[in-house]
Amino acid sequence: MRILLTNDDGIEAEGLACLERIARQFSDDVWVCAPEVEQSGKGRGLTLTEPLRVKTLGERRFAVSGTPTDCVILAVNDLMGEHKPDLVLSGVNRGHNLGEDVSYSGTVAGALQGMAFGIRSIALSQSLERFHDEVIAPWQTAETFAPGIISNLLEHDWDEGVIMNVNFPNLSPDQVREVEVTSQGFRDLSEMHAVQRTDLRGRPYYWMSFRGREQVYPDGTDLRAVAEGRISVTPLHIDLTHRKSVNDLKRRLGGAPPRQVLGPARIRAGL
Ligand code: MN
Repeated sequence: MRILLTNDDGIEAEGLACLERIARQFSDDVWVCAPEVEQSGKGRGLTLTEPLRVKTLGERRFAVSGTPTDCVILAVNDLMGEHKPDLVLSGVNRGHNLGEDVSYSGTVAGALQGMAFGIRSIALSQSLERFHDEVIAPWQTAETFAPGIISNLLEHDWDEGVIMNVNFPNLSPDQVREVEVTSQGFRDLSEMHAVQRTDLRGRPYYWMSFRGREQVYPDGTDLRAVAEGRISVTPLHIDLTHRKSVNDLKRRLGGAPPRQVLGPARIRAGL
């Protein structure tokens, strides 16, 4: 089995080394194509306005001056030659990817690009704790449980167009009791905010940040499972259509295109 690894924390990330150890339990034919520098939060970004540079770091190891999406495209189209990967693993991300922040996630994006090529793809993330500037991630937890979960997933077919999003809780391996198959939850990312600081020349600059308020999330969601110390496995697809709204909208808006504004007074009044 040929396996392609990528991530969004960069080629030197600890989580990628962890993923390599996981992947080597399945195959010796492991390829790494990862961003040269961290790309967390870049989502499905694609580099279109500047050239991409590839550094060959070893026989099957490449660093790319782009995003995880760029990495998977380059690896599959070019760097890996004729023999495409049978599996794409993305991660292990430094921090979980849950709820709607999967759309910010470069880790999930790496898996989505593998899926777009028709390759089975799994995103893996390790929940962690931040003490001031220090990040403490129990990589051992991902390393202990990922191989069993991956082999279970690979034993059965799954729908084309679906990736698996696996999140390990912030616990040591001996504290983890359960895997839960979950749905994508909703965190309310109005929690996302910008912190203003002042540079040495007196000009303002900003850091994007999560406020991280404690919340109780609904049962059955990825957020709840990981908060309660379970490993979460969520099948994700990229179709963002809201099915329930389609028929309503069809009745109202389908057919000949409207040529005038309806009820302008009502719209101005905010009714
Ligand atoms: Mn990351």
